[in-house]
Amino acid sequence: MTSHENRAVFLDRDGVLVEHVHYLSKPGDLRLTPGAARSLRSLRAAGFKTVLVTNQSGVGRGYFTLRQLHKVHRRLREMLARGKAKLDAIYYCPHAPPGQSLSRRPGGRSAFALDRAPAPKPRACSCRKPASALFQKAAKRFAIDLKASFVVGDSTSDIMAARNIGATAILVKTGYGGSDGRHRVRADKTCRDLAGAARWILQTAKAATERRGKEKKAMESSRLGPSAAFRSIP
Ligand SMILES: [Mg+2]
Ligand SMILES: [Zn+2]
Repeated sequence: MTSHENRAVFLDRDGVLVEHVHYLSKPGDLRLTPGAARSLRSLRAAGFKTVLVTNQSGVGRGYFTLRQLHKVHRRLREMLARGKAKLDAIYYCPHAPPGQSLSRRPGGRSAFALDRAPAPKPRACSCRKPASALFQKAAKRFAIDLKASFVVGDSTSDIMAARNIGATAILVKTGYGGSDGRHRVRADKTCRDLAGAARWILQTAKAATERRGKEKKAMESSRLGPSAAFRSIP
């Protein structure tokens, strides 16, 4: 046994936990996908950490503020609580992809334009999916075994992120349904929606536990021999 003992289900937000809305910035636009609260409930009951990991480049692009993002997430937690469900944590990347932040928009205010100094080469952050920084952060905080964990997403960056951390990748057909075409990558499993993904995860986890239990029993009885195993029955 390693020091990492928890398993997690990492969920994408837009198009997975909530219906996809282009650059969602208003709490009132939040709609949970069908069965979302029930799914989180059953995953947590089975011992999984439920961790939201979401790219929110709308902040970096200047479409909405961090304050608005926090309002949206506060409302999301309230909606889940009403369904007796909760997320163990929410992690977000607020950065725009390189070259797409507000300050570098053509015609936008740019400090670099003033002195005509060459702009620094845009650098990608380490937290925007498919990068793994946010997953690593969660793993450290909750002692999560990433390889025993699952990622549920609707875009190829989610699937690629799962590959990058060695987790099982589940694509759902809600939201983008994998049609964004950004990365050439295949999911381990495709499900209709989050509820379907949760059912599959619980089945898979149950089968794995049973298999481990059988293996353990077989090992014990082969070590003790059949008569000893028989005698050990109270
Ligand atoms: Mg999404
Ligand atoms: Zn980032």
